Amino acid sequence: MQLKTDLYIDGKWVKGNGSVPVYDPSDGSVIAEIQTAGEKECDAAVDAAYRAFPDWAKTAPRYRAEILRKAFEIMVAEADFLAELVSKENGKVITDAKGEILYAAEFFRWFSEETVRVQGDFRKSPSGDKRILVTHQPIGVSLLITPWNFPAGMATRKIGPALAAGCTVILKPAIETPLTAMAIIDILERAGVPKGVVNLVTPTPAGPMVSRILHDSRVMNLSFTGSTEVGRVLIKEAADRVIRCSMELGGNAPFVVLDDANIDEAVKGLMLAKMRNGGAACTAANRIYVHKKIADEFTTKFAKAMSELKMAPGREAGAQLGASVSIKERDKIAQLVELSVKGGAKVETGGVMPEGPGAFYPPTVLTVDKSNEILKYEVFGPVAPIVTFENDEEAIALANDSDFGLISYVYSGELGRAIRVAEAIDSGMVAINRGMISDPAAPFGGNKQSGLGREGGFDGIHEFLQTKYIGVDI
Ligand code: NAD
Repeated sequence: MQLKTDLYIDGKWVKGNGSVPVYDPSDGSVIAEIQTAGEKECDAAVDAAYRAFPDWAKTAPRYRAEILRKAFEIMVAEADFLAELVSKENGKVITDAKGEILYAAEFFRWFSEETVRVQGDFRKSPSGDKRILVTHQPIGVSLLITPWNFPAGMATRKIGPALAAGCTVILKPAIETPLTAMAIIDILERAGVPKGVVNLVTPTPAGPMVSRILHDSRVMNLSFTGSTEVGRVLIKEAADRVIRCSMELGGNAPFVVLDDANIDEAVKGLMLAKMRNGGAACTAANRIYVHKKIADEFTTKFAKAMSELKMAPGREAGAQLGASVSIKERDKIAQLVELSVKGGAKVETGGVMPEGPGAFYPPTVLTVDKSNEILKYEVFGPVAPIVTFENDEEAIALANDSDFGLISYVYSGELGRAIRVAEAIDSGMVAINRGMISDPAAPFGGNKQSGLGREGGFDGIHEFLQTKYIGVDI
């Protein structure tokens, strides 16, 4: 596979209005120069997606399914190349990158299967003299905006259901990690996606061009994954034309360890929930609530496991924690730790930024009071603040003390108790005695300010379909 660096519009790789470098955050070197998109390119992408929509929407579900299936197969066959690319532009370790590629490919397989299972229904009215036909139709041209932390997974989680539903798309990846998105578009082209059905633009800065696209009367749908801050701006933009929105936003996941939990298992689970992707995940455990009775043993074991991780450039043998995506992101992590320490946090391990080069921040464990400021923020890095609690009610109240509600984790030795706590926590997803639950076959999404809508599972395709009711007298 060849590295792509151009925009993709109407079935062609084209130049844009300029170029920007893409960096390897583990040493600051330039990996490639990519093309950027201005008004002309963004308008051309909307033109192409709009022109391609009627024919694509009419294709047989089986036809769309087979293209997606082919894309899945190519992605798996080229997983090593793609993982290397993800690791290079994002900084994450190669094992995480490979895991992401296989997870990302699964969205193409899952939605290739869902394509042929979109069902309507035929109902009788209560009066008996009418029939109610319910059917689902593709919404139309969809704008897909993705973040840098899972450059492959977040793209396929949107492109898969959109294409399955019969929508055409314009993908706008994060400017830090566009190469992976370009490689995925290349795969879709080779899998046989017709021209105009997928388009890729990289406007920078993103705001004005995204606003322009959202105000184009031919664009009907927005699917966004990123921060709550930007999501809020885009919901307001989308409101002008009442565009349908799916929002996968920030998280600040509580990780609750009850007093009857298996401590070693809980430590293992937290290592995964906190450290997958170097902590740069919306699902990352960020507020660790541990029962007072077991807190000392838990903290000692967890801090030991964290201090033993090998921090190194993502592609170095044995690396377990790579670089953050940029110096700017790394500095945000450092500032949150400083804030926490000023507020009385005790550093159990880590907390000292290494000399450069590279955007590295070490695995850090803090013990903090429940009012410590760090608990209010989504820490997008390898930092785990631990708080103690005295009973289940207090644990639930602490877990719910957040504007976010994406995912939570509960560890307990008794399933019924864990389910009672899981049901009382206000989040879209809860993992019981597991450090990871992301699954293409399950509905992913958040409550409160973590978002609107669900991706994956049976729900994901409906973010790109609208329900039509056809009424008839008989
Ligand atoms: P971000 O919000 O800064 O950027 C996300 C995308 O929006 C990027 O493509 C960016 O270029 C674009 N963007 C930025 N400003 C914009 C504007 N004014 N108008 C239009 N587009 C704009 O987020 P990020 O730093 O790339 O990613 C991290 C965030 O993403 C975290 O908050 C994380 O929790 C969230 N996230 C959520 C999920 C989920 O499924 N809920 C998954 C992954 C990441």
